[in-house]
Amino acid sequence: REGMLRKPEWLKIDFNTNEDYMDLKKMMREMNLHTVCEEAKCPNIYECWSVRKTATFMILGSICTRGCRFCAVTSGKPTELDWAEPERVADSVAKMGLRHAVVTAVARDDLEDGGSAVFAETVRAIHRRMPNTTVEVLPSDMKGTYESIKTLMDAKPDIFNHNIETVRRLTPSVRHRATYDRSLELLDRVKTISPDTPTKSSIMLGLGETKEEILQAMDDLLAHRVDIMTIGQYLQPSFKHLKVQKYYHPDEFAELKEIALQKGFRHCESGPMVRSSYHADEQVNPEARQ
Ligand code: SF4
Ligand code: SF4
Repeated sequence: REGMLRKPEWLKIDFNTNEDYMDLKKMMREMNLHTVCEEAKCPNIYECWSVRKTATFMILGSICTRGCRFCAVTSGKPTELDWAEPERVADSVAKMGLRHAVVTAVARDDLEDGGSAVFAETVRAIHRRMPNTTVEVLPSDMKGTYESIKTLMDAKPDIFNHNIETVRRLTPSVRHRATYDRSLELLDRVKTISPDTPTKSSIMLGLGETKEEILQAMDDLLAHRVDIMTIGQYLQPSFKHLKVQKYYHPDEFAELKEIALQKGFRHCESGPMVRSSYHADEQVNPEARQ
């Protein structure tokens, strides 16, 4: 397509699938569950589902009230709130034998609590069914209210993850109805409510940011007590979405990881294929869970 950058070699990978994977996919449909792994056509799906035993569920339906310009999720009027969803997620965590479950959600700006009650119930349902499985939550800003965050943290997730997605300058053109400062404040507030829970945030590169802006985003996250950072390559999900401005070389990702660790992050994953939930099983603080 005209005006589009060519994908570099290191991003051309085989989509590795097998019978196990097809069975799991079928189970997801039967249980009316959605995973980011499938919907974002994540290249790590085989490694995550079959080897690392981790997956990212998307709850609160499949239709988002926002329309971020990098995201492939359908936006529109959301479905009814489904209180049976938490148990179905817990069931499939058990059936997949997951060691680490990531739970994310569409933004539900139509609900007063942004969906945090169902979110919290999902964390509890997984803990009840699979006490040794760690649970990472990756909510939208849930309107940034103290109550909605408190509700979610009371369910004791093992990692709290919320993505700033991009640098400050590009936020208004990349994210929809979310602000850079509100996301930072949310991360900071979680640390106040639950000091032992590791917090984590992610940015995508390739949207036109400068190196200085990336380093500033690191400083901003650290100033808001974020422990873990992930850095990945933005890929355009369809021609209607934002174009990729740059493909970063793996060496550039490696350099950014070094800088992030020097600056003080406890853990950093940085690479072309890194997604917010990539290698998340290595980031849990084993002492944090009571
Ligand atoms: Fe799923 Fe995340 Fe793994 Fe991709 S990196 S397959 S989205 S758990
Ligand atoms: Fe996608 Fe989340 Fe934005 Fe909704 S709020 S469009 S799910 S990134």
